[in-house]
Amino acid sequence: MPEERLETDGPDATEAAGARLAERLGPGDVVLVSGELGAGKTTFVRGAARALGVTEPVVSPTFTIGRRYDAPVPVSHVDLYRLDGLDEEDPALLADYLTADAIAFVEWPERAGRDLAGATVSVRLAHRGGDRREIVVAP
Ligand code: ADP
Ligand code: MG
Repeated sequence: MPEERLETDGPDATEAAGARLAERLGPGDVVLVSGELGAGKTTFVRGAARALGVTEPVVSPTFTIGRRYDAPVPVSHVDLYRLDGLDEEDPALLADYLTADAIAFVEWPERAGRDLAGATVSVRLAHRGGDRREIVVAP
């Protein structure tokens, strides 16, 4: 798939971009979602998760590094914001989420170190003033 670049003008459009990416995902795929705080990472993941059939509210994991949602293909949502390198943590920390049967989304993937080398797609979001966000989806 070629690299795609688009700009959105609000959260709904970012959710729709997530939903479009979801159409191309399947079990075992890992999507790295990067960008600064408030860039819209969780919003993008919410749109993708909805499109994949997740009915529960999709919010940032707080007390754990991730959540798994039931759906026809299960969806994992990991947020490594509070992590300071996986090395000091349980190395199996991601194993519960990045499973062969699930589609996984990982916010702040750069904090994981090398563990995410096998990811399928990377999504980068950036502020472009006001409610505008640039989204780059790259294989
Ligand atoms: P992150 O996970 O990157 O920290 P969130 O998705 O949690 O970001 O929050 C993004 C915030 O920015 C939300 O409050 C959302 O309503 C707001 N927002 C405004 N415009 C956009 C946009 N175009 N895309 C995504 N979020 C937007
Ligand atoms: Mg977030």
